Amino acid sequence: NSFSQCNTTDDEVFRGVKGRSILDRMHLDGKVAYVTGGGQGIGRAFAHALGEAGAKVAVVDMDQGKAETVAKELHLKGIHAISITADISRSDDVQRMVDTIVSKWGAIHIACNNAGINMNSASEETSLEEWDRTFNVNLRGTFMCCQAAGRVMLQQGYGKIINTASMASLIVPHPQKQLSYNTSKAGVVKLTQTLGTEWIDRGVRVNCISPGIVDTPLIHSEDLRPLVQRWLSDIPAGRLAQVTDLQAAVVYLASEASDYMTGHNLVIEGGQSLW
Ligand code: NAD
Repeated sequence: NSFSQCNTTDDEVFRGVKGRSILDRMHLDGKVAYVTGGGQGIGRAFAHALGEAGAKVAVVDMDQGKAETVAKELHLKGIHAISITADISRSDDVQRMVDTIVSKWGAIHIACNNAGINMNSASEETSLEEWDRTFNVNLRGTFMCCQAAGRVMLQQGYGKIINTASMASLIVPHPQKQLSYNTSKAGVVKLTQTLGTEWIDRGVRVNCISPGIVDTPLIHSEDLRPLVQRWLSDIPAGRLAQVTDLQAAVVYLASEASDYMTGHNLVIEGGQSLW
């Protein structure tokens, strides 16, 4: 396109692109999605949001019972859903997840790589076991999911990958002691930037969402519970995020409405990273 050419017509602005309104362009009808860590917390909310927007959803979790329960919740809403038990830190599990979805529904349009873990220790005491486990799930696991789903999407010439990073990729939330977590999530942002720019010309967009502190079972661990009160005073919005605060973002990034966005980190933290 030449620089002087304006491709958007007044008619498109008035009637919508190809006659479709912005809400139409955020529908996910006919799309196939998966969500890792879909058995609870943020992933469960993402699975519901993508399903409500019209996608078929594979709920993936290492906890079989939780994945099955969420798939049943989706069925109750009339959403096509399956559950897959997989540990995303295992390459054979990741490939089986992708193969299962493709053999069931013939495609993967939306890959929501959300599973992650969080451990706490003072940096001088962080063990290599903690470091390796955190990186194996949060960064290596997310990479393996991006690569396995990405290969399918590159073949299709279309796909939307949405990784879950964290506000901790940007700032060091005080007074956490989460060296391995923070650095693994910074890695997820760079993974997203690199893949997002590398694959865009073949139709695959890769973005991530960085939540602030979200009220999920993850932050009710014994390690973190004492810090929650402290964090509240660091959040301009005056409250923790609820998982429902994140749902529109995943639908937007999964839909064609965000086709011009790739490699980016959508930060949803009640303003905390700005204070
Ligand atoms: P959660 O602990 O409530 O749920 C995580 C789910 O992922 C669980 O169902 C668990 O069984 C599953 N899971 C864990 N490891 C897995 C693995 N190796 N393979 C497959 N499934 C696995 O966590 P959450 O709060 O919902 O967090 C989800 C994501 O959001 C994580 O990546 C987390 O780091 C990120 N995040 C959370 C917060 C927060 O405040 N809760 C903030 C920023 C980012």
